[in-house]
Amino acid sequence: MIRKYLFCNDSERSLAKHIMQAYPEEGCGLLLGRADRIEKIKPVENMVAGENGSTYFKIDPLTVYKEECAAQKEGMDVIGFYHSHPDKRAVMSKADEEYMIPEMLYIIVSVSLGKVREIRAYHRKTPDEKVTEAEIAKEAI
Ligand SMILES: [Zn+2]
Repeated sequence: MIRKYLFCNDSERSLAKHIMQAYPEEGCGLLLGRADRIEKIKPVENMVAGENGSTYFKIDPLTVYKEECAAQKEGMDVIGFYHSHPDKRAVMSKADEEYMIPEMLYIIVSVSLGKVREIRAYHRKTPDEKVTEAEIAKEAI
């Protein structure tokens, strides 16, 4: 069964804006919300941005912890992560799969020449399960 998520509160636009600003670097951040609802995005520093030939992203675990505490005060959780693939397709890399945390939503944004080309989402339930593509819709207002 395909897992479905919703972009709420303009979160898709905020995400695209951050990714375009980060270009040509790889931008990344946290997806905050409840269950299948992405209520808010939180841009964070990519610890490996600018490293030669970097094809992955790395977020400081302490940052995740702090943002999770802050989100919980607003009744939300960290439900996933997003990052960009500058000038590349929005498909999972080997490293992306390797570091994937089960039950978390992973959004990959393909960006080229400063413009968002493609937004795709991935998910898996257990570390051994095959990664499957998730669906993200915009919240109907
Ligand atoms: Zn990646």
